[in-house]
Parts: sequence; C-alpha cells; structure tokens
Amino acid sequence: MGQPLITLHDKAFQPYLSAAEIATAIDQVALRLNADYAGRQPLFVVVLTGGFMFATDLLKRFTGNCEIVFIRVASYEGTGSTGQVQEIMGLREDVQGRDIILVEDIVDTGTTLNHLLPTLQANKPASIEIAAMFFKPASLRYQLDLKYIALEIPNDFVVGYGLDYDGLGRNLPDVYVAV
Ligand code: 5GP
Repeated sequence: MGQPLITLHDKAFQPYLSAAEIATAIDQVALRLNADYAGRQPLFVVVLTGGFMFATDLLKRFTGNCEIVFIRVASYEGTGSTGQVQEIMGLREDVQGRDIILVEDIVDTGTTLNHLLPTLQANKPASIEIAAMFFKPASLRYQLDLKYIALEIPNDFVVGYGLDYDGLGRNLPDVYVAV
C-alpha cells in the first residue's frame, strides 16, 4: 500500500521526498560550502519565507564564521508564478566587498533571482553565489549560475520543507507533490 495522501485546502498531495533524502542532499551542499568558504566570512542572505527551513538546516552544517540576514520577496499566488516579484523587506546590511551566498527554497522560473541579483550586484559585493534546496531545470527562463543546488526536481508543484500551498504545508518535514 502506498503512503497516505495529505490534503491542503482543496488539493491532495502525495509523498515525494523524505526528510532523510533531503538531509543527505543538504550534507553534500554543506561539504562543498565548507570547502569553498574555508577562511572566509560569508554573508548568507536568506530569502523568506520559503527559505527558512533549508537555511536552518544548511547553516547548522556550516562550520566557519558567517553572518546571516533575511530578506523577503514574493512572486507566487496559489500554484502559479505571477511572473512579478514584489520586494517586501529589503536588505539593509552593507554588502560591499562581502562574499554573499543567497539562500533560496526553490528556483523555478528564476524570476526571483533575476530580480534580486542585479540589486545585490549594484552594491558591489566581492562575490555572489546561490544556494537553493530545489531547482526545476525545465522551468528556468533566465541564464543563472546556480552553484549550490541540493536537489533537482521535475516541473511539478511541491509543498513541505518550507514550501507552501496558499499558506499551508511549510511545517512538513517531508516534501509532497500535487496529485
Ligand atoms: P521563481 O521566481 O524562480 O519562479 O520562483 C521562486 C519562488 O516561487 C520560490 O521561492 C517559491 O516561493 C515559489 N515556488 C516555485 N516553485 C514552487 C513549488 O513547486 N511549490 C511551492 N510551494 N512554491 C514554489
């Protein structure tokens, strides 16, 4: 018998990735970050809301000194991208000369990053890299250099592990896909 479906609002979702599979993928990203940023002091810029859970797990595995700040953007309504990014909470820290690691829950069309990267670059950081929990290569509409991706997934709508469906599902430790 398959694992049970869950329901959020009007939609059913089936299990897709377990918390253990997610943890293993994050271990791999953390290993690379720890090697690449040894002796540096990066500034992790976490994109809320969805990035909170990935950021928590990733940053606990980061062994060097670092700083962590949060920004908040939104580009989604329901299960479809609006194609427009609204910046809700801006970055106030001085990023000039800093090694920035932008932490995202998921890169889908890339609209969010395509909007954020020039804004950050205008403030002259020493470097900017992207760390994302999930990446949907089939959806990407922009040329982006995505250096630290934990898991690539198909072009399906997923919830759990920080990701919501109209506000619900962010607390789930596993990831589910719409049936
Ligand atoms: P992009 O700007 O790359 O199209 O989308 C980025 C944002 O859209 C993500 O940070 C996330 O909030 C939302 N998003 C994209 N794909 C999904 C998905 O499959 N499930 C959920 N819940 N949100 C998604």
